[in-house]
Amino acid sequence: MASVITKAVRIHANGGVEQLSYEDVEVGDPGAGQVRIRNTAIGLNFIDVYFRTGLYPAPSLPLTLGFEAAGVVDAVGEGVSHVKVGDRVAYCQGPHGAYAGYKLHPASQVIKLPKFVTDEQAAASMLKGLTVQYLFRQTYRLQGGETILFHAAAGGVGLIACQWAKALKVKLIGTVSSAEKAAIAKAHGAWETINSKTENIAERVSALTKGAKCPVVYDSVGKDTWMASLDSVQQRGLVVSYGNASGPVDGVNIGILAAKGSLFLTRPTLGTHVNTLEKLQAAADDLFAMVKSKKIKLEVASTYPLAEVGRAHTQLESRATTGATVLLP
Ligand code: NDP
Repeated sequence: MASVITKAVRIHANGGVEQLSYEDVEVGDPGAGQVRIRNTAIGLNFIDVYFRTGLYPAPSLPLTLGFEAAGVVDAVGEGVSHVKVGDRVAYCQGPHGAYAGYKLHPASQVIKLPKFVTDEQAAASMLKGLTVQYLFRQTYRLQGGETILFHAAAGGVGLIACQWAKALKVKLIGTVSSAEKAAIAKAHGAWETINSKTENIAERVSALTKGAKCPVVYDSVGKDTWMASLDSVQQRGLVVSYGNASGPVDGVNIGILAAKGSLFLTRPTLGTHVNTLEKLQAAADDLFAMVKSKKIKLEVASTYPLAEVGRAHTQLESRATTGATVLLP
């Protein structure tokens, strides 16, 4: 084994896309329990934006961004038995650093890819699809016939959620910011959509559910939709706040949960749901079974060369994207 020099996208300070620096880095040999992966397709996720801007603090600087990629095992360290050199694999949790040609990664966070999932499809869907898996099958176990509110339904996570909800016979009401996004969410299985720029979300949810509201609301938009989410959930229902695309929800007085009707609130992360190989594999098996049975189609909406990641961040942050974006090293 020998270390490799590869291109990576690093930040040396928090800030705008001008902080994304495409540069050479050295990737060493894998240590015990690690594998080295030659990335072939890298997932773009909103969390990468949070770490670039500093909304989520970097563990240290400079930092190679990115959590998700698919590729080929290039070298394995001591004690690694479930993957070997040449295996096609993917990862979506663990230490930062996926925005690179090669990455050292804990083997316990790496799984083999089935033949029916391409590298680009895996990079487009591991982090997003496993998020939908835990949101719909673990945080709250959806039942057929239920009606839910899901924000940003035409986004990367959103289009997988639309398809998964439909497969479960759950009526997904999705918020979107344009008519074009509404059509895309509906084509992927959303039951109804609400234009968050022109309509009152809670009033529309109430009308669509004949006053019953939703047993669960999934909110990744954060600041802008927080109050609408509380007003769209049934008494003793669950608000799942799992992202901050419009900014974080802060300064909350928990008394609001009483005032709105004995609500439950959770703020989950994917990491805590897939923090062992067994849990990661079980969630991935669930996603892959949905793909194999053709209930979920894994789509790559757009691709960019890794060197042009700044353009991809700008598109994602400005709400110009639908579905998933993949970066090619
Ligand atoms: P998306 O492709 O969904 O992009 C974000 C979407 O949020 C936009 O397209 C936009 O849709 C909507 N949005 C609403 N307000 C704003 C705003 N002010 N600025 C930008 N976007 C806004 O991203 P991802 O699929 O990568 O992630 C979706 C969300 O899920 C993110 O918030 C992410 O952090 C979260 N997430 C959380 C995880 C967890 O475990 N906690 C794991 C994975 C993702 P529209 O224009 O239609 O409103």
